[in-house]
Amino acid sequence: MELRHAEGSLGTAVQKEFKADSSCASAISPSPNVSERACPADILLLHYTGMIDGPSALKWLCNPDSKVSCHYFVDEEGKVTQLVPEAVRAHHAGVSSWEGTTDINSRSIGIEIVNPGHEHGYREFPDGQIAAVIELSWDIVSRHKIKPHHVLAHSDVAPMRKQDPGEKFPWEELYEAGIGHWIAPAAIGDGALLQPGDSGPAVAAMQAALRDYGYGQAVNGVFDEPTIAVVTAFQRHFRPVRVDGIADHSTLRTLERLFSSRPS
Ligand SMILES: [Zn+2]
Repeated sequence: MELRHAEGSLGTAVQKEFKADSSCASAISPSPNVSERACPADILLLHYTGMIDGPSALKWLCNPDSKVSCHYFVDEEGKVTQLVPEAVRAHHAGVSSWEGTTDINSRSIGIEIVNPGHEHGYREFPDGQIAAVIELSWDIVSRHKIKPHHVLAHSDVAPMRKQDPGEKFPWEELYEAGIGHWIAPAAIGDGALLQPGDSGPAVAAMQAALRDYGYGQAVNGVFDEPTIAVVTAFQRHFRPVRVDGIADHSTLRTLERLFSSRPS
């Protein structure tokens, strides 16, 4: 999809040292895996690294063979390293979609947060790391005027493929610090309301609400695999106590409240 020559020459250019865009960054580690933005950044996209440890993840993100990168990297002690200048497109989102657009790398600034992730021993994010993520995110959303509902998880934009940063990520804490859109989830009550295999107008209405919030959700009235993935992604971000892809009352209520409180 991208012109390798353009990518290569730009990559060479940014392999040189550059000046950090954020005062939160205390180190620079240039990644060659970059390209030109097609539009300005209006999304802040959060990830976990999902690798055994931080140093291997940082190395991978700067390795030309990996073809991946991000703008910022936050280790478990809260040290922030910048890999790619914000003006340039980093390669962290992959095949993804939000609000009907698919070039999420062009639209976003990406932060990789060190955590082994679901495959290598998913664990709580240390307080110092989260404090650093909050400070950095605040700086980025302020400078780029990123809307609260444009602070997203990788799993929000790629629900079929990604789980990060996952249900242990403290979105509520970010919200309390003024970052992101969040609402207290409705309490878990009795059983499922809509579940995989169901079909009809109620499923279509839920799909439409998820789509209208921004998810890449088709409205076909069938609670199919892609719908399970989107409901699961929604739960990881907004109703993390139970992540099962089943649209129980609490999930639907939380979606409804979130949607109606969405800032314009
Ligand atoms: Zn990710």
